[in-house]
Amino acid sequence: LGGKISAALKSFTSQKVVDEKALEALLKEVCGALLQSDVNVRLVQELRTNIKASVKFDDQAGTALNRKRILHKAVMDELRRLVDPGVTAWQPKKGKINVLMMVGLQGSGKTTSCTKLAYYYQRKGFKVGLVCADTFRAGAFDQLKQNAAKANLPYYGSYSEADPAKIASDGVAKFKKDKFDLIIVDTSGRHKQEQELLDEMIQISTVVDPDHTIFVMDGSIGQAADGQARAFKSVVDIGSVIITKMDGHAKGGGAISAVAATQSPIIFIGTGEHIYDMEKFEPSGFISSMLGMGNLGALMETVQDMQLENNGVNFLKKIEEGNLSLRDMKQQFEMIGKLGPLNKVLGMMPGVPKEMIDVMGQNGGQDQIRLVTTILDSMTDAELDSDATPFDQQPSRKRRVAQGSGRSVRDVDMMIAQYRQFSAMIKKMGGSKGLFSQLGALR
Ligand code: GDP
Ligand code: MG
Repeated sequence: LGGKISAALKSFTSQKVVDEKALEALLKEVCGALLQSDVNVRLVQELRTNIKASVKFDDQAGTALNRKRILHKAVMDELRRLVDPGVTAWQPKKGKINVLMMVGLQGSGKTTSCTKLAYYYQRKGFKVGLVCADTFRAGAFDQLKQNAAKANLPYYGSYSEADPAKIASDGVAKFKKDKFDLIIVDTSGRHKQEQELLDEMIQISTVVDPDHTIFVMDGSIGQAADGQARAFKSVVDIGSVIITKMDGHAKGGGAISAVAATQSPIIFIGTGEHIYDMEKFEPSGFISSMLGMGNLGALMETVQDMQLENNGVNFLKKIEEGNLSLRDMKQQFEMIGKLGPLNKVLGMMPGVPKEMIDVMGQNGGQDQIRLVTTILDSMTDAELDSDATPFDQQPSRKRRVAQGSGRSVRDVDMMIAQYRQFSAMIKKMGGSKGLFSQLGALR
């Protein structure tokens, strides 16, 4: 989708005459790409109407460049509106008990998303407990237990109790008594009759009285999303949406239908099976990602989340200034190492070629990170605070560092080359014509 819309906008930008005809051609491309991505026909039609209504060619704004700007903005605004219902996303509040209920069909990723959410909020300082109210699927409790154990998350469930509402209510009561402040209730997703499932959701929701209900949806279900979202919305008070499996071949159109059907914001997207494979949803980021610019918004949020203020030095500010020392890179690598596999982190960055990510191989670049950090560990403070010029001036320094880190001089050379690439990339991102200002324009 991204490539197509991006290409359509580009070809439009290179046109000399901007008129109704050019607009029609652009809309045809954009709408065609959206339909191909399984976006609901009605929503695509709406987008077309809205764009046409917001662009008036008989205005005095005469130059082709101006018209292009107006049109570009109209298209971006409407694309953004598709994923942003204009409602503030829910967040658990500190100092009170927050009960969260997850709903969605079996296989949509509820249990996985429960533990991802729990892990996410645990890191934000919440005392999180998981309740397994799925008695339909054999092994559901074991699955939750296993997931929870990986992150040391307390859980509640039962092998003998058959009534999911009873388990849900007991579990929530127990965690409330133990002063947990975020209680997440996982539910079942499949019954012989759809009505039975929906009745069960009403029962659980009634006894648990959740502060918030999240609809979990498989990102690849496309046109089926509208019906699913509507069915759940008819019985429980859906407040937000999580779209899973966005790491696969999901075209994203279903996400747009779910937002429209529930009038609720997407809060997170699932990007893998592991507990840290979850990104905060950010409309601008999603749009820039659709346009092939990488999901910079999500990356920035994670980076800020890790509190990158090291010795009072703010990395984001450094990016803006475009000057990184070897020490800055070292701190970045240490931080990135904590975020998860390098291929995931790089995947969120704009302009990183896919081949580079594929090269990370099996363990997602952890080996490379370790190699680079051990070399950096053997540098002196003065070397670390430099831009690597001391190594050009005195090549013998490389031998010392190589010996100190148990690596070869070639490894040290490679690492310095990597630093220079990294530094050049950051410079490009930060400049006044860089990606940051482009993203700023989208906001
Ligand atoms: P539930 O039936 O709704 O509880 O769904 P599960 O959480 O059991 O997930 C069903 C399957 O999808 C499992 O194999 C999960 O590992 C997988 N899964 C869930 N979320 C994601 C995701 O974001 N990406 C990928 N690749 N797989 C996922
Ligand atoms: Mg489940």
